[in-house]
Amino acid sequence: MNDQSAQPPVSRRQLIKYGGGLIGTSFMATVLTNEVMKPQPVLGQNKGTPDEALTALMAGNQRFVNNKQKNPNQTVVRLPEVVSGQNPFAAVLSCADSRVPVEIIFDRGIGDIFVVRDAGNVATEGAIASLEFGTLVLGAKVLMVIGHQDCGAVISTMKQAEVPGNIGLILDNIKPAISNYIGKDTEEEAIQKATEANVLYQVQQLNQSPILAQLKAENKLKIVGAYSNLETGKITLL
Ligand SMILES: [Zn+2]
Repeated sequence: MNDQSAQPPVSRRQLIKYGGGLIGTSFMATVLTNEVMKPQPVLGQNKGTPDEALTALMAGNQRFVNNKQKNPNQTVVRLPEVVSGQNPFAAVLSCADSRVPVEIIFDRGIGDIFVVRDAGNVATEGAIASLEFGTLVLGAKVLMVIGHQDCGAVISTMKQAEVPGNIGLILDNIKPAISNYIGKDTEEEAIQKATEANVLYQVQQLNQSPILAQLKAENKLKIVGAYSNLETGKITLL
């Protein structure tokens, strides 16, 4: 074990160096806008707990499923509140699939959710780096990985499909997650099980980030996996 491994993942000095300016700026912006405007009562100011952030996220999905959206923070009126800084209350790693538009299915708007998307919702190094930023620096309290019904990336991995160009990189990131389902049947139930296994695997990958693990240990972050039903829009926690 080298000396570095004994150090906390991020020192206070480092945090101030690369994050303090952002946090300070956005905090001031929040204070100033509170003086002159009435911002939406969202958890985006990071005053809530991880459980409250998760509840807020799921409540938005329920509004969407029931077609009772409030459409918060979705107009230009929101822009002055966030132009100087952002405090998203949630972070999401979802599939890039066009049928899983994150802000829409959670009935949220500008500045509410820090979203990272790639095909197969895989926790690549770049995705993890972005999510460390969204949580540690910007303060998102819940991090949700979302897989979905009929995911082409998962199905292609199950079928061991020959794919051109860099597309194989996506499949390489899913293979270890669904080894039990590769080369077997691709009925709808098996696809759902493989998709859920992939989500839980990617959650594990995120848990291995020292920064995300530290935030969890300090009760500043919750990481959850979820599945999106394309027929109903419903998000189910795994
Ligand atoms: Zn997908």
